[in-house]
Amino acid sequence: MQPGLTPGPFAFWKGDDVKEDYETPFKLAKKYMVWVSRSGLLHELTSIELKGRTVIMHSKCGQILKASNSRRSRAARWLRHKWYYKPCKRCKIPDERLKSFGGRMLRKV
Ligand SMILES: [Zn+2]
Repeated sequence: MQPGLTPGPFAFWKGDDVKEDYETPFKLAKKYMVWVSRSGLLHELTSIELKGRTVIMHSKCGQILKASNSRRSRAARWLRHKWYYKPCKRCKIPDERLKSFGGRMLRKV
């Protein structure tokens, strides 16, 4: 934090997110082969590729997902905390996979 600045309401998140030793979303997604979409759906991935700073993924349900490979992105935070609203129905992620991912299902508010 810069000197002279008072911590805002998001100071906690900022401090949490700028840590450099966090794994990138690419690494996390590759490890679990899952991805949390913008709407909070957990997709199973069939392929994942890193092109520069962009992660390009194919989900089992046939979508092409693109995301920035930034540790500070929404997806990075969701993957790191293993949050999702619900598993994608069309991906049909097996229960064992969900269990090994060990995520937490959030309630939509
Ligand atoms: Zn899906």
